[in-house]
Amino acid sequence: MVAEVIIDSNVSKLNKTFDYEIPADLNIQIGSRVFVPFGSKKELDEGIVVNIKEKSEYKVKQIAGLQEEQIDDNYIELAKWMGHRYFCNIAECLKLMLPPGRTSKNVNNRIKEKKANCINLAKSKDEIKEAIENKLIKSEKQKRVLEFMLNNDNVTYQDINIFTDATSSVINALVKKGYISKDEVSIERNPLVNESVARTEKLKLTDEQKNAIEQIKNSGEYLIYGVTGSGKTEIYLQLIEKNLLQGKSSIMLVPEISLTPQTVNRFIARFGSEKIAILHSKLSIGERFDEWNRIKNGKAKIIIGARSAIFAPAQNLGMIIIDEEHDESYSSEMSPRYNTIEVAEFISKKFEIPLVMGSATPDMRSFYKAKNNQIKLLTLTKRANNSTLPNVKIVDMRNELANGNKSMISKDLREAIQRNIENNHQTILFLNRRGFSTFVMCRDCGYTVKCKRCNITLTYHKEENKLKCHYCGYEQKVVTECPECHSKNIKFFGAGTQKLEEEVKTMFPTATTIRMDIDSVSKKNSYEEILNEFKDKNINILIGTQMVVKGHHFPNVTLVGVITADTDLNMGDFRASEKTFQTLTQVSGRAGRGNEKGNVIIQTYNPDNYAIEYSKTQNFDLFYNTEISIRKELKYPPFCDIIVINMSSKNKNDLQVSIKNIHSFLKDKVINEKFGVLLYSPVTCPIDKIKDRYRMRILIKCLYDKKMNRLINETMNYFYGQKNNNCRLSVELNPNNML
Ligand code: ADP
Ligand code: ZN
Ligand code: ZN
Repeated sequence: MVAEVIIDSNVSKLNKTFDYEIPADLNIQIGSRVFVPFGSKKELDEGIVVNIKEKSEYKVKQIAGLQEEQIDDNYIELAKWMGHRYFCNIAECLKLMLPPGRTSKNVNNRIKEKKANCINLAKSKDEIKEAIENKLIKSEKQKRVLEFMLNNDNVTYQDINIFTDATSSVINALVKKGYISKDEVSIERNPLVNESVARTEKLKLTDEQKNAIEQIKNSGEYLIYGVTGSGKTEIYLQLIEKNLLQGKSSIMLVPEISLTPQTVNRFIARFGSEKIAILHSKLSIGERFDEWNRIKNGKAKIIIGARSAIFAPAQNLGMIIIDEEHDESYSSEMSPRYNTIEVAEFISKKFEIPLVMGSATPDMRSFYKAKNNQIKLLTLTKRANNSTLPNVKIVDMRNELANGNKSMISKDLREAIQRNIENNHQTILFLNRRGFSTFVMCRDCGYTVKCKRCNITLTYHKEENKLKCHYCGYEQKVVTECPECHSKNIKFFGAGTQKLEEEVKTMFPTATTIRMDIDSVSKKNSYEEILNEFKDKNINILIGTQMVVKGHHFPNVTLVGVITADTDLNMGDFRASEKTFQTLTQVSGRAGRGNEKGNVIIQTYNPDNYAIEYSKTQNFDLFYNTEISIRKELKYPPFCDIIVINMSSKNKNDLQVSIKNIHSFLKDKVINEKFGVLLYSPVTCPIDKIKDRYRMRILIKCLYDKKMNRLINETMNYFYGQKNNNCRLSVELNPNNML
């Protein structure tokens, strides 16, 4: 028999299977992890068997060795599907499914389980108690150790030392007398061990919650749509419990950024920490290794994690839950550039288990599917604990300027902050800032220059002093006078949190402030540290970017100020309105979560824009109806797919030549083979240079099907078949960020 093996490599040319003969003494199956000789190298390569067949048309070498664990063949299928769909190496996809902490080439490099000296009682607890009572143990120190051990299980030498001050001589004496024994055991580095959380009971469901749970059957896709606080999490908790009672495990995905102790504690409080595994990128490699093993051996049946947890080796998987399903972090921006929802759909179909998604502001695609009955829509209309939504006030910044206020903070917001400081309540100021994109806007009428073809705000390119469309390449000179109202008050938007903090400090000299953005959050726990400091020290004002938006719960925050709602609106992306609505709705949800009613002040130059207007009442339905008709008219997702071919090079000229070449290859095919697609000319990316590499791209609007897939793969092969003078190429399907 012959095995088809994928070699562990990111090299595009090796993205195919290689045949190897299966030796009679090895039990090789699909999913087996093997060592094989490859090329002329001395050391063996690692690979994974993805198919088995009778014979090969080539003269083939033998598989040299086999590793213990293997990958479930359903996941092999998933990796193949992903490699195809997301234009990446199957090996890269397979890596997502392997235990963390392994290097590909050397098995011995794997992370060792942590060993520690565990001390155990060598007699029964009753015998020990008797011995103490009968004063058989004279030494006070020895007695203290035994008493400590009677009350605590699984103690290590360090534990004893810390809690009883006993040195090794005391312990050795007890070992000698036969009261205790030293054993070397492996200890799990459970990231949750230090959490002691009071247990909670399940809540009595509201009718809407009960209905939602009853509707969720053994398979299919479900979208729970309900405002923040409508009780979605309680539904997840009870669904997981149902699963647990049937001996099944559940995967619960949350956005990376909301994987805070606050979120996790709700699950620990319900189920205890032993059954829960946490997976995210901030864990140490050893911790991830341990968590992975606890999942693999079935101890952890509730898997909570960011997007990559979808690949966790769950045993007897019964359900996948994706909270805040619209969140950007579910799209991987690194290769493999997969979409977590699509992967979850694949797994749920394969295992015939339900996929439950939830959001207050669903993704346009998901809601469209729900409206068309491809996903079952479960709606929660009320807040579960009867708290009210905050008051939202929209401030027209055009009037501020007219009244002589040139600062970033309006009169209304200034007064509200002042009141909050006096009342000892907290304020969050949110400055939306995406990438480095800058746009220009008239400060008198809110006018921004848009591309007439794409309805996308043009982005300012400083180097050439031009405004450009990042979809079709249209460009024009920078305007110095507003075409609408002829004002000369044209402003470049792109100011950062630092500048805002300075302004706030000048305005409120006695207030305490803390800043949270990419710069201030870099260390492992810094994100949490900032949030804790804000909460514990009751700091007056938290100033932050997107990071402050997601599900935090600060009861003393009664005011949220959005500095400019227009940033998202003008981000040069067809999802601008969708993101604006989502962000404003979410950030509003941070205010007034305690007993006090919350206030939100949204500053904007476009108060009449529908995304801003509807966010005032958090009315997603109204927003959806307007947005979907625009999408339909202009042919944007969900009515088509967008494929982006990215290219980069250190040499601008080489890049231009190379991308033109790729473009004409595509153009010929599209014309000759009658593809019904919209192929755009190469354009410079919004961020035109990263790490000395110039960046350009080609956009294709299409319906992504087998034929289209083939075209892209042919294009990639064409590219790799050429001398590419240091150009790199990558392809993205419906990317979430087009920077
Ligand atoms: P979401 O996930 O939609 O934001 P949560 O599940 O966090 O909503 O619920 C919001 C608040 O309402 C929480 O404090 C939760 O404990 C409470 N809650 C949820 N369901 C119920 C219920 N059935 N009865 C009483 N309180 C509830
Ligand atoms: Zn104007
Ligand atoms: Zn355009």
